Amino acid sequence: MTMNQQQTVLVVDDEKQNRTLLAELLVDDCRIALAKNGAQALERAHELQPDLILLDVMMPDINGYDVIQALKADDATRQIPVIFISALDSTADEERGLDLGAVDYITKPFHPSIVRKRVRNHLQSCHHRHLLENLAKIDSLTEIANRRRYDEALENEWRRCSRTHSPLSLAIIDVDHFKAYNDHLGHAEGDRMLRLIAKKLSDFVRRPGDLVARYGGEEFVLLLPNSSSAAAANLGEELRSSIEGLRLPHPASAISPYITISLGGVTTQPSGGEVDPQFFQAADAALYEAKAGGRNRSLWRNDPFGAA
Ligand SMILES: [Mg+2]
Repeated sequence: MTMNQQQTVLVVDDEKQNRTLLAELLVDDCRIALAKNGAQALERAHELQPDLILLDVMMPDINGYDVIQALKADDATRQIPVIFISALDSTADEERGLDLGAVDYITKPFHPSIVRKRVRNHLQSCHHRHLLENLAKIDSLTEIANRRRYDEALENEWRRCSRTHSPLSLAIIDVDHFKAYNDHLGHAEGDRMLRLIAKKLSDFVRRPGDLVARYGGEEFVLLLPNSSSAAAANLGEELRSSIEGLRLPHPASAISPYITISLGGVTTQPSGGEVDPQFFQAADAALYEAKAGGRNRSLWRNDPFGAA
């Protein structure tokens, strides 16, 4: 089995002996980075974007459970898989670790060959997932189109609409107070909610050429070729009201007892072969306005930068 030498594993443990042992164990399989406490772990995770984190639970400053929660609450680090390595060996400890989003839980004292094999397995499945995501252009969490697929569709539709003199619409959708939802109910629940929303959005997008994609974090985008501004705005409002209508409880939202979305959209007549960056900016500005206006609303702009 050949491993990708470019993969990086961040080893977090307050005891030097453990860090050294794990580093020696894995040095042939990947690049190793070390952190000796929770604060350093968060810093290094941000800066290095490792492919995997081996995380000690018992540490004097910020313990491993708090570290994983901070990682999962941050868009920049939440997708990094974490394996707990812990002297706590009760089922409850293990369950807690897995509930917080760890992919695996290894108890100390560990068997070197087992740790090595588990790390190898995770690195390999991680590598495969990235390959598949790029090939299929599918977001692995929600199983709808990913951002890469959206970028390609936007370029194609822009050129096509420019050639055929058809309008093109774009909406950006943001889940209201999503961070509070995650903080309150945990990241596994947050992921489940994102999947439900993605499913609902997909149900609405049925015409050929229409696309709904996960843009990143709790943001989705909707691309609608050949729709009038009025039809696109109607669809946007229908989406907003259908998400509210799901009545998914949101115990930490400042605006509603339920999950809601804010949506900003724009319709324009594309011209030329290159996507005008103002197209996305205009939709983003509409979204900003929808949020500033109190969230749980949709706001549509027709030709805000006068391309037609
Ligand atoms: Mg420790």
